[in-house]
Amino acid sequence: QNSSRQVGRHFLHIPGPTPVPDRILRAMDTPMIDHRGPEFAKLAKRCLDGIKTIFKTTNPVIIYTATGTGAWEGALTNTLSSGDKVLMVETGQFGALWKKMADKLGLQTELLATDWRTGVDPKVIEKRLSEDKKHEIKAVCVLHNETSTGALSPIAEIRKAIDAAGHPALFMVDTISSLASTDYRHDEWGVDVTVGGAQKGLMLPPGMSFNAISNKALEANKTSKLPKSFFDWQDMLNLNKSGFFPYTPATLMLFGLDVGITMLHEEGLDNVFARHDRLAEATRIAAKHWGLEILCKDSKYYSPTVTAILLPEGHNADQFRAMALETFNISYGASFGPFAGKYFRIGHLGDVNDATMMGCLATTEVALQLFGVPIKKGGAQAAMDYLLSQHGAAKKQAA
Ligand code: PLP
Repeated sequence: QNSSRQVGRHFLHIPGPTPVPDRILRAMDTPMIDHRGPEFAKLAKRCLDGIKTIFKTTNPVIIYTATGTGAWEGALTNTLSSGDKVLMVETGQFGALWKKMADKLGLQTELLATDWRTGVDPKVIEKRLSEDKKHEIKAVCVLHNETSTGALSPIAEIRKAIDAAGHPALFMVDTISSLASTDYRHDEWGVDVTVGGAQKGLMLPPGMSFNAISNKALEANKTSKLPKSFFDWQDMLNLNKSGFFPYTPATLMLFGLDVGITMLHEEGLDNVFARHDRLAEATRIAAKHWGLEILCKDSKYYSPTVTAILLPEGHNADQFRAMALETFNISYGASFGPFAGKYFRIGHLGDVNDATMMGCLATTEVALQLFGVPIKKGGAQAAMDYLLSQHGAAKKQAA
């Protein structure tokens, strides 16, 4: 007999949107309040102050009622003018999409290509900027974490590379799939605009995004001529001072954000980062044991939030994902670009713990075999042994 019902909790292992904790869902399940009233102003102030602690900045953070793509547009239009040269890196699908947006906005983009299997090499940035003697490049835009391939780039080192070239370009960083999952320091790392999103490490539904901004970016804003209206920083900064927005913001998302930030600090940001590192390593241990190749070639760029796993020739990853969803009620991330159909991605970010990852990896091991992928059994066990060793070491340290 066919069944039209999927039983139990869905195993959402795409790299965002991530599972929203019940506590956040409950906080959002609340009657509407006046977005020009005193209760709202208090809520907004808590969010506007709290979000700074996540970006590690003392400057204002803009909260947009838009998905991450909106915050990309806000970063570019608030700081640049038509025809400005922008240096970008095609680490994968999202690097390519940000470039496409910059082109549409009338910027002159220069794209540094990669093979989609690595992060950004700071030396390449330094070399290109050193050649730009006339300082025609106005901004360098990179992704901290390329979600489509699972590669993390070294932001502090890229900052040093820009400084070593003595170049004044603005530095813009997309942290949509790294913020609140791995260490990020907007002020200390000298980033001018950081783009963030709600639906990954912050554990919220999609529909909210952020621009953290440096003083240099605020200066650039004064002379930037690209048209901006909905994403205009100035309107926002003016009204945010009293806890309001230039339009009707997503009130319920703010209720959720307030709790999300509280939960991150209750766990402790360093513990949040250590948990993501541990779950990422467990995932890679399983994949390697299975004898499958990780798309990111160089371990120094391994992502703490998402792992892309290549299937052997002759095994279509899209069909594998569809089979796993139907049979085991588990979702994986899709594949893109030159590797479309060749890999699937396991998201291990947001409100996930050791138990959810053990469930995910054991399920994946069974699903791979059911799909006929020739793997060496025991990858989930190897990941479990690793998790046991990590907790054992922590227990010993505490004793
Ligand atoms: N940048 C990165 C790194 C992403 O992962 C995503 C979405 O997953 C985006 C940008 C686009 O964000 P959104 O889909 O919220 O508009």
